Amino acid sequence: MSKELEELRSEIEAVDEQILSLLNNRASIVKEIGKLKEMQGVKRFDPVRERKLLDLIEARNEGPFETSTLQYIFKQIFKASLELQEDDNRKALLVSRKKKPDDTIINIKGEQIGTGEQHFVMGPCAVESYEQVKQVAKALKDQGLTLMRGGAFKPRTSPYDFQGLGMEGLKILRRVADEENLAVISEILNPNDLEEALDYVDVVQIGARNMQNFELLKAAGAIRKPVLLKRGLSATIEEFMYAAEYILAQGNDQIILCERGIRTYEKATRNTLDISAVPILKQETHLPVMVDVTHSTGRKDLLLPAAKAALAIGADGVMAEVHPDPAVALSDSAQQMNIPQFHDFMNEIKKHAAVFTS
Ligand code: PEP
Ligand code: MN
Repeated sequence: MSKELEELRSEIEAVDEQILSLLNNRASIVKEIGKLKEMQGVKRFDPVRERKLLDLIEARNEGPFETSTLQYIFKQIFKASLELQEDDNRKALLVSRKKKPDDTIINIKGEQIGTGEQHFVMGPCAVESYEQVKQVAKALKDQGLTLMRGGAFKPRTSPYDFQGLGMEGLKILRRVADEENLAVISEILNPNDLEEALDYVDVVQIGARNMQNFELLKAAGAIRKPVLLKRGLSATIEEFMYAAEYILAQGNDQIILCERGIRTYEKATRNTLDISAVPILKQETHLPVMVDVTHSTGRKDLLLPAAKAALAIGADGVMAEVHPDPAVALSDSAQQMNIPQFHDFMNEIKKHAAVFTS
């Protein structure tokens, strides 16, 4: 190598080092600004300042780089800086694994959710009668399951559809659960019902349609019972995490996240099961993650394969609907399993479940 080339190379290395240190200097200042803006509640993205710098480049640039090239490079720096501030923000989230590296473990009637063992939450879409719930409860017991779901307050798309039995439904669930030594998981729609509902439920479910009902989330954050939070109908993973953050920010860290499919253009299934959300949520948060195979697929023929996928990809549990006579069910008639189908499902899925006890 010629001496001249060698000299130029070391010159360029020195410049690169300077650029590196200047970029990181800039990044440190950006982070400080981010903190101040957060304290003041000001938006991080500042298009006016960006525009000013782009204009400055245009005014001062003497080449050899084209102005557009330099503007492009600076746009990348702005973008990276904004991401840096967002990362910082994410780091601070209470649901974040960066905040709490250890898995959150939730004890529901002796079942420890979040330990790596896999669990099943089964039961009818809606509570219709004592006899109906009792039959399902017995089937659960036969399979050694503890966690029984059932909707008493039903968030229906049409106001003319069956809205659920309300508190009466919760009482039925509690009675059967006490008789059979099961835990009750049931959706609450209205913050005003929460307190009374706590007499009957072991886990409060917040449904997809209410994932961004912030008053309900805050109210659920103020209770001291576990909350099963479902992903919103078209919520991003980030929005889902922020919804959980609302609960945690009020002091309740007993949260189970539940992927239940999101709305896409695909019509072959009721919703599109976003299976990759499971490992993402497991990595990004410390909370247990379950998968509802009924509302995601809406298809009985897909319950088992979807449940296998959920367990294989690291879900802490699977939710599905069971009804003694789905054909006459008052809601989700087409997608609920009958009891023999439920036994077949359980017998098969248990072969794939980690440390399934009983
Ligand atoms: C349910 O689990 O009863 C339910 C209504 O599900 P989702 O909120 O996910 O639609
Ligand atoms: Mn349902």
